Amino acid sequence: MPFYITTPIYYVNARPHLGHAYTTIVADVVRRYHQMRAEEVFFLTGTDEHGDKVVRAAQKEGLEPRPYVDRISQLFRDLWPDLNVIPDHFIRTTDPDHMEVVRRVLQKIYAAGDIYYSEYEGLYCFGCERFYTERELVEGKCPDHRTEPEVIREANYFFRMSRYQGWLIDHIQTHPDFIRPERYRNEVLAFLREPLGDLCISRPKSRLTWGITLPFDERYVTYVWFDALLNYVSALGYPDGGRFHTFWPAAQHIVAKDILKPHGIYWPCMLKAAGIPVYRHLNVHGYWNVEQGKMSKSIGNVVEPLQMKDRYGLDAFRFFLVREMTFGLDSNFSEAALVQRLNADLANDLGNLFSRVVSMTHKYFGGVVPEVAPEMARQFGLGLGPEALRTVAEYEQALEGFELQKAMAVVWEFIGRMNKAVDVAVPWELAKKKATLRQLEAVMSSLLKGLRLISGLIYPVMPDTAGRMQKHLGLDPAASFYLLEELKKWQPVPAGTRLPKAVMLFPRIETTPAEAETASPPKAAAAALKPEINIEDFGRIDLRVATVVKAEAVPKARKLLKLEIDMGERRTIVAGIAEHYAPESLIGRQLIVVANLKPAKLMGILSQGMLLAAGEDAGPVLIMPDKTVRPGTALR
Ligand SMILES: [Zn+2]
Repeated sequence: MPFYITTPIYYVNARPHLGHAYTTIVADVVRRYHQMRAEEVFFLTGTDEHGDKVVRAAQKEGLEPRPYVDRISQLFRDLWPDLNVIPDHFIRTTDPDHMEVVRRVLQKIYAAGDIYYSEYEGLYCFGCERFYTERELVEGKCPDHRTEPEVIREANYFFRMSRYQGWLIDHIQTHPDFIRPERYRNEVLAFLREPLGDLCISRPKSRLTWGITLPFDERYVTYVWFDALLNYVSALGYPDGGRFHTFWPAAQHIVAKDILKPHGIYWPCMLKAAGIPVYRHLNVHGYWNVEQGKMSKSIGNVVEPLQMKDRYGLDAFRFFLVREMTFGLDSNFSEAALVQRLNADLANDLGNLFSRVVSMTHKYFGGVVPEVAPEMARQFGLGLGPEALRTVAEYEQALEGFELQKAMAVVWEFIGRMNKAVDVAVPWELAKKKATLRQLEAVMSSLLKGLRLISGLIYPVMPDTAGRMQKHLGLDPAASFYLLEELKKWQPVPAGTRLPKAVMLFPRIETTPAEAETASPPKAAAAALKPEINIEDFGRIDLRVATVVKAEAVPKARKLLKLEIDMGERRTIVAGIAEHYAPESLIGRQLIVVANLKPAKLMGILSQGMLLAAGEDAGPVLIMPDKTVRPGTALR
């Protein structure tokens, strides 16, 4: 199966920032994952280089547009290797091939009668390069630039988008995951409840020359969307290129939510009008918030991605971005949160497990992986096999559904299970007696097997760390090792393999007191304990395991989710977790509920109980049972 993934082409009126880095790293993670599935993959990114904003940015620097776009485009191209992002192609909208495809598609749609010429008067924001309707303005001003738009009257070409409204609604309804996560599908359907206007697609050359000339009128250039969006097909050599035939049917786009409408509405209509099949999925993510505002150059709030990468390591940076953001929701970016993830998930959970297991192999077996008879493996092998296979299955499911954060959470659940297994098996006790040597061999072999699997599963997000782990497990990090089919075989590290000495995968970052304070102000663990209670006091709290049956956002309440749970009986619970958990990520999950808490009304909804969560400063962390439990089971 081929797989085609794109980022948006980035507008060159500013330098790359964290938002660009996130989108493109996500694309790279997904690319690597599909390569693990042995699929033929094509990954496209690039730069959007036409338009009056570019002309003005160039003028500010005293440059002609061409040298200016060459320079900024190069900044983007230089960034990707530094982030271990490997696109198959980097497209520029000033590429002659691309410009030719744009003209060709415009001509085709014009000939079919879906582009027409008309006089137009409208409110125009120069910052946005677009006309606004009265309704879209906020107190008469552009919602983005807070400036009053100017009235412009001119004749232009229009794309008859309105003709495709009914078709698009139908397509979205019959393809439920066409736009995902679901909240953005709903958003697009909500737009489509209003009549869809036609789209102005040209600018007279009197106002803009830095663009692609319309094939049917020399006096005009095409404007923004016909130029920009067509990059996704021009890069594949549309209409006759072999790549187009191979990859286009498998196309998936990744965008941030600010360009949902062009990608969710204009683009499918354009494709339909041009007689090109529509893409398969549009995957939409939220914003990274730095302090209060959205990450945006216009408020001067730019975190240079490379600074964090250089300070804490590229893999830790990639892991943080993928693990911290629930794909589709907004997330907070801070150095403190990054350090917290690095210390907890990477240095502690993964790094310690790895160095413990490798060091013990050295201590007890001279660094040589022991031979284990199958019956010993069955008896003392920690029973990790079924969990390993379940982990791979859930990991695949999460990545197919673009829930990247969940895929990592699933791997970390397995890491947690392994850490627990070490503590339960107590290899250092087994090593004391000759009688338990066979058992020790089985335990260690099983742990090494688990590390081998983990090193494969983290590869899309942390390719360098995956390679280092494999090297230290004495494995040849040949390409075939990363294949999911291989990982599913749950193979041991071959007996007799000699392991290099253990290394520290992720050094812990010691935070100075001042930094620690900003990192996590009232450290929960350090907070004073509450007064002692007796067992009867505890017994008054009725704690139950519950399965989430339904989950949805509460309208107008940014923080609240409404959950329907099964705890032997059905109940509704309203929880303040919406900023940290996507509703769809909770369905089917088990949680712990305080079942006899007096019901309370929140936003008019009766909440019959409360969820248990750890009060992390970065946000609540839900407590979930280690294994699936019958709903309604009491905690004791
Ligand atoms: Zn504006």
